[in-house]
Amino acid sequence: MSHVIALVFDFDDTLTPDSTTQLLVHHGIDPEDFWGNKVAKRVLAGWDPTLAFLEEIFVLTKPGNPLEGLSNAALFEFGKTLKFYPGLPDIFEELRAITREYPLTLPTIEVYVISGGFEQLIRGSTIAPFLTDCWGVSCVELEDTHTIARPSRIVDFTAKTRFLFEINKGVGKDGRSNPFLVNEYLSPDKRRVPFSNIVYCGDGLTDVPSFSVVQARGGTTFALFDPARPSGVKRAWEKFLLPKRVSNMCFPRYTADDELGVLLRMAVRSICSQLETSAKIG
Ligand SMILES: [Mg+2]
Repeated sequence: MSHVIALVFDFDDTLTPDSTTQLLVHHGIDPEDFWGNKVAKRVLAGWDPTLAFLEEIFVLTKPGNPLEGLSNAALFEFGKTLKFYPGLPDIFEELRAITREYPLTLPTIEVYVISGGFEQLIRGSTIAPFLTDCWGVSCVELEDTHTIARPSRIVDFTAKTRFLFEINKGVGKDGRSNPFLVNEYLSPDKRRVPFSNIVYCGDGLTDVPSFSVVQARGGTTFALFDPARPSGVKRAWEKFLLPKRVSNMCFPRYTADDELGVLLRMAVRSICSQLETSAKIG
C-alpha cells in the first residue's frame, strides 16, 4: 500500500498569474497582440498551440526585437520575480504537518508542477525548492549567443497526462532520458502513487485531459478560476464543473481561510485517514 500523496499543479493562473504574459509585459510587449493576434493566427493556420506560442517567442528573440538574446539563464532569472498566489508556498508545509497526525502510515507529500509554459521560469521561481519535480517547455540555445532557438520538449494538453502517469507509476528521473518507460505495463497494485492519492489543480482547457484522467481514477480535482475574469468563471462552470470533469471549483487562493486552502487541507486529511483505515484493516 503506497503512502505517497502527490499534489499536482498546473503553473500559469494556478500558482501564479500567467508567467509568459508576465515576461512579455516586463519587456514592453502587448500580451493581447501576442496571444490574441499573433499566436491565434498561427493556431488558426494549423499550428500546435504550444509550437505557435514558441515560434512567436523565437521571433521576438531576433536582433532588434524586445526579447533579443533571451537565454535559458534569463528565463531562470525572470522566474525569480514571479509572485505566487496567497498562501503559497506555506500550504505545502501545513499539509505535511497534517500527515504527521497519522503515525501508523506516516504518508509523505510530494508536490509536482506540470506546465505548458517555460520550465526554466518554474525552476528559477521561489516555489522551485518546494517541488519534488516539474515539467514544462524546454528549449535549446544557439551556441554563440545562447539565445533560445528551438524546443527540446513541449508540454501540450495531452502530454500533461504522460507526466501524471509517470508520477502514478513511479518512473522518476529516468523518464527524462527514457520517455517510453511510462508505457511499460505495471499492475495497479505495484504503482507508486495510486490515482486515489493524487490531487490535481488546474485552471484551463489545457488541463482537461488531466482532470479527466485523475477524476475517472478516483483522484481529487480542483478547477481554479480568477473571479476578476468573467470569461474564466464561465469556462470553469461550463467546461469543467457541469460535465463533472472536476470535483471542485475555487479561486486560486491557498491560505487556511480560503475555500481552496480549506478544501486542499481537507482532501489531504481524507486521503490520510483512508490510508490509515486501510492499514488497520490490512
Ligand atoms: Mg494554467
